[in-house]
Amino acid sequence: MNEETEKREKEQIQLKLLVGLQVKDNEINDLKKSLEIIPGQIASGQKELEGKKSKLNALQAEIDSLKKQRSQLEQDAKAEADHMAKTKMKLPTVKTNKEYTAILHETDAIKTKITEIEDKELEVMELLDAKEQEIPGLEAEFKGEEIQFKEYKQKKEAEKARIQKELADAEAQRTQFGQEIDPKLLSQYNRVSQARDNLGVVEIKGETCQGCHQNLQPQVALEVRAGEKVHQCQSCDRFLYFIPEPEPQTESAVPK
Ligand SMILES: [Zn+2]
Repeated sequence: MNEETEKREKEQIQLKLLVGLQVKDNEINDLKKSLEIIPGQIASGQKELEGKKSKLNALQAEIDSLKKQRSQLEQDAKAEADHMAKTKMKLPTVKTNKEYTAILHETDAIKTKITEIEDKELEVMELLDAKEQEIPGLEAEFKGEEIQFKEYKQKKEAEKARIQKELADAEAQRTQFGQEIDPKLLSQYNRVSQARDNLGVVEIKGETCQGCHQNLQPQVALEVRAGEKVHQCQSCDRFLYFIPEPEPQTESAVPK
């Protein structure tokens, strides 16, 4: 084997390793992205559940307030009834027509007030009744959602643990993989990858770099297509590789 052929084969192997490294890095990046969104997914489920809970709490607060109103109205009615009794007790001591008329006016006013209070009481009780009837449905809805959320959270936490394990495995494989690559190439790859959206190795199509879509020098494109030399794009610095178009095959042409 002459020196030239040996050098070419070495470069071929390095290029394949770089492509493999990129595949591993893509896998790592995808895993990291999947991992990043999980806390947000759990938080939004939690928020939805809290929304349901606060709806239930608001309804309960409304009911409590209606109960307070009802008891206040009961007290008011009782006070007016006492007022009425006391006013009527004055009747036997009345001496003049004027006094008598004044008492009648007072009892009429009390009657009107009592009617008003009773109407209001009825209104509050009807509203209270309607609100109380909403509670069981809303409670059941909340409990159902709570169970669903617990299941969802468990599922997401299991998913997180699984991805974390896959990520650790992929990172270990990546380290191992990187050890097979020429350290100088590896550090160049790492630098380019960091600077260029985690993409350090790209395909060429025709004479175009698929990373930056700039045309390559024809000689560079030729050598990349031949797959015999490690090249970096002169515009974006990414390493370049070429996947040949699959040969068109017909059934009869496939060797048995
Ligand atoms: Zn480029």
